[in-house]
Amino acid sequence: MKPPVTNPYRLLPSVEEALGALSGLEARAGRELVLAFLKEELGQWREAIRTGALDAEALQARLEDGALERAVEGRLRVEEGRGIRRAINAAGVVLHTGLGRSPLHPDVAQAMAEVARSFCILEVERETGKRSQRDARLGELLARVTGAEAGIAVNNNAAAVVLLLNTFASGRATLVSRGELVEIGGSFRMPDVMERAGTRLVEVGTTNRTRIADYANAIADDSGLLLKVHTSNFRLVGFTEEVSGDELGALGRERGVASAFDLGSGLLGDPGVELGTEPPVAEAVASGVDVVTFSGDKLLGGPQAGLLVGRRQTIETLRKNPLYRALRLDKVTIAGLEATLGLHLAGRAHELPAWQMLQRSAKELGRTAQDLADALVDVAELTVVVREDTSQPGSGSAPGVFLPTRVCVLDSARYSAEELANALRRADPPVFARIKDDRLVLDPRTLLPGDRDDLVRVLRTLFA
Ligand SMILES: *Cc1c(COP(=O)(O)O)cnc(C)c1O
Repeated sequence: MKPPVTNPYRLLPSVEEALGALSGLEARAGRELVLAFLKEELGQWREAIRTGALDAEALQARLEDGALERAVEGRLRVEEGRGIRRAINAAGVVLHTGLGRSPLHPDVAQAMAEVARSFCILEVERETGKRSQRDARLGELLARVTGAEAGIAVNNNAAAVVLLLNTFASGRATLVSRGELVEIGGSFRMPDVMERAGTRLVEVGTTNRTRIADYANAIADDSGLLLKVHTSNFRLVGFTEEVSGDELGALGRERGVASAFDLGSGLLGDPGVELGTEPPVAEAVASGVDVVTFSGDKLLGGPQAGLLVGRRQTIETLRKNPLYRALRLDKVTIAGLEATLGLHLAGRAHELPAWQMLQRSAKELGRTAQDLADALVDVAELTVVVREDTSQPGSGSAPGVFLPTRVCVLDSARYSAEELANALRRADPPVFARIKDDRLVLDPRTLLPGDRDDLVRVLRTLFA
């Protein structure tokens, strides 16, 4: 005999009833979130009933099986995994903007954590108790490590460029080489930035060749700034010519117009690897342009920041712009930058994680890759082989530079490369790899201490 037909909607628990069974989750995440997820889940179940995908019998079975609680818990787990958290970079891109660029030196992280959780000497002079500038010491350190007279720091290099343009060329013209009107990832387009900073763009030269005479001929009464921009993320090859910092600085002095060089990455010291045409900060400063700008979290290896160095008077003019107040750094970042520059000054830059990653030799990486492969050798349905490949500095630093590496190439009958990459990103901790020729590739260059064991565990769990 067929059982009597029940109205499946009647079997659905009320929100209040269901919530009663979810008190554990409520204690963990709060009533609001659990209620929202419960309503979403019940809504989906109702929709499945409406379309006929879920009948009374199947619904009854689901409810008895605790599927509602599990589904709400699953939604909560996804929610808890969102936002900024530690991830494993097995993509081999050292300064990976999507993964937060430079990981910080442990001493730097420690210095930041300490001022984060305490009061600190920020805008008060220790000796006199008088009010002082928050970045006085940072400015001194910047001057020491770059050879400039003074320095100032803002939120990122994009902000540094905005402050620069707005200070020296607001309502006036900025002269830039046509070949250097770059777009940096994340919608930082030089022409758009100029417009917003209130300056008029005057393009000089041609796409592939710009001479100092092009700048000289374009100088007019309303010229506020002569700007040179390092083409961080692309390379111009062939019949090319660009204006040097020396030429630009000399022209600016001769004609009484401010000059600046936006370096982007900003190489301080010698990271011990060939980085192509990446211009050193000290060289740009010595060239005689009035201001040099660069990032804190690219090759410098520190926290996100934009650094401006140059002549004392020029830096003071930047400081007096009210925009500086809006772009200035917080105490935690200042502490991190001071500590990072301290490492550079002490000759300890080779300890910076980003530099260590850049320096890893193919031989050393081969050993790490083989160790990973060995640790996974007994995993069923997974084959791991070690291959030659190349990794990249990243973040628009040193384009066209490829560092020889050894990678683990994963092959599986169970998952496609795409499926593996997805599963790894969703793992705990999330793992970012790269896909090459339809294979998942793990590059050990960017692994930090402790990552290896987590990576092995995550992969073992995926294939369990
Ligand atoms: C990266 C870069 C910027 C932007 O720097 P952020 O610190 O990311 O804001 C600006 N100019 C150049 C030339 C760059 O390479």
